[in-house]
Amino acid sequence: YYRRSWSSESSDSVISSESGSNCYRVVLIGEQSVGKSSLANIFAGVHDSIDSDCEVLGEDTYERTLMVDGESATIILLDMWDNKREGEWIRDHCMQVGDAYLIVYSITDRASFEKASELRIELRRARQKEDIPIILVGNKSDLVRCREVSVAEGRACAVVFDCKFIETSAAVQHNVKELFEGIVRQVRLRRDSKEK
Ligand code: GDP
Ligand code: MG
Repeated sequence: YYRRSWSSESSDSVISSESGSNCYRVVLIGEQSVGKSSLANIFAGVHDSIDSDCEVLGEDTYERTLMVDGESATIILLDMWDNKREGEWIRDHCMQVGDAYLIVYSITDRASFEKASELRIELRRARQKEDIPIILVGNKSDLVRCREVSVAEGRACAVVFDCKFIETSAAVQHNVKELFEGIVRQVRLRRDSKEK
């Protein structure tokens, strides 16, 4: 196994023989302006120099196939959580449709960190008995001087909420690829343990 660049990974993606089984709907949730859309845009490859293999399925929905640990996975990424125009129903919808969740806060905004905990609880309530893969995402890690939430706090919170944790920066594109690979791995871990 070796790491290749994101763009070359997606260019040789193929339709899997286990059709459907490795297509995951991943939902971005979190307080407004923590960077959800910025992360989605990087996923969508809007910053890539040439073309990307991402398909924009709708205003807030992106699809991309990536190779993770030698196996391809298709992520359908939904970024519609704080779409005010659509009203509250969209949140209920988001809580129901995800195969996996990225709960995003900003390390420069303690209120958004507290909101992340609320969302974790809300998600647990909405999807009782389901073991849903979640990554707690501390975004804006480039803004070191404005930090209000320490790495240790983020990590501790993830332990309490029984999920993974990562700090990212959409601005300098740090750990973003790792984030999306990470969520694929989380989904697979659960899938594999079910098969046993
Ligand atoms: P959303 O409301 O959660 O979708 O947040 P946006 O993606 O719209 O981002 C809100 C603001 O934060 C924008 O001005 C972004 O440019 C900025 N932003 C997003 N991610 C980062 C980051 O990692 N670092 C910095 N410095 N700014 C960011
Ligand atoms: Mg947004």
